[in-house]
Amino acid sequence: MTVRVGVIGAGVIGADHIRRLSGGLTGAVVVAVADTDAERAQRQASELPGARAYGNGQELIASQDVDAVLVASPGPTHEDDVVASIAAGKQVFCEKPLAPTQAACERILTAEMACGRKLVQVGYMRRYDAAYRALKSVIDDGTIGAPTLIHAAHRNPSVPDSYTASMAITDTAVHDIDVTRWLLGEEIVATRVLRPRRNSLAATHLADPMILLLETESGVLADVEINVNAGYGYDIRGEVVGEKGTAELGDASLVVVRGDGHQRSPVPAGWLERFSGAYDLELSDWIGSVAMGKATGPSTWDGYAISAVSDAAIAAASSGERVVVSLPERPALYAIGPLSATSGRQRRQ
Ligand code: NAP
Repeated sequence: MTVRVGVIGAGVIGADHIRRLSGGLTGAVVVAVADTDAERAQRQASELPGARAYGNGQELIASQDVDAVLVASPGPTHEDDVVASIAAGKQVFCEKPLAPTQAACERILTAEMACGRKLVQVGYMRRYDAAYRALKSVIDDGTIGAPTLIHAAHRNPSVPDSYTASMAITDTAVHDIDVTRWLLGEEIVATRVLRPRRNSLAATHLADPMILLLETESGVLADVEINVNAGYGYDIRGEVVGEKGTAELGDASLVVVRGDGHQRSPVPAGWLERFSGAYDLELSDWIGSVAMGKATGPSTWDGYAISAVSDAAIAAASSGERVVVSLPERPALYAIGPLSATSGRQRRQ
């Protein structure tokens, strides 16, 4: 079966997903592109044999030519298109965040539960990254004993002027919230946000860098550095401290050069370079799941639980206080099945 995909949002990552789906990956063809920038949609569609451009996502979702939908527009626009895809009975890959608030994610959760089957995969691609998977297996096989602490850093070289203060949490920290839950197989129950001296090179409306402190159900504490004006490159770090040892992500570079009395290894320039293999795997997993008729991978529940933490972190950033995450019981539709590379551990997630 060749899955006919419609892509909503043809910006940076939308264009990259189109390139992957219509190039290297098998089993899919991009037949439709929608973007509020009509010229951009037209330009992308014109490079794909037989593809059609649409002015908005709703028309694309309704098209008989589209079997499955990929949403890669900005976060605040995801909710309506994901809900419409569910109403049309079409599987949908939604870039992270599922939506920027818990209330918006709840609408998606309610729609999917009413439909009674999983149709949504959220673009938390770190679960498909080789280094993160290796880190997770070391935790799962007990090599380092029970985890007690996580130290993580998310450093971007810079961000565009359009990047708002809350996006540090709703667009950036959400990846680290996701991997904390996934690595440990637990929900996050409370958070605090700490602010060191501001980076004077950051735009004046940003409190950058910041530390998110995440507390999990079993009492693991994760400190996450969010630093989006780090300047030198895209640097993603993660170390898990256990009762018997520690495990950390390896160096992201493929080569180390020694010469002139120095040792050098390149730092990735950006997320497209660092997570290229993960994007390949997540999309190929999604295409496989559409062919099977059932979404796998990061779910609506994951997107919803992450938004509960990001809402709490936004409140914590503004109050300076510890804020408890408000999360109901996990619904039966999202019960954990057999352990897979992208699902959580058997404990709670
Ligand atoms: P972008 O470059 O700004 O592209 C978004 C595109 O969507 C733009 O062409 C925009 O048009 C268009 N658009 C805006 N509203 C729309 C709507 N309602 N319907 C259809 N198109 C619409 O953004 P991006 O960096 O690609 O990010 C897109 C999404 O991917 C975000 O949710 C982001 O968080 C996520 N993302 C994920 C990763 C990852 O690692 N998983 C990495 C990057 C981005 P205008 O420019 O005219 O507004």
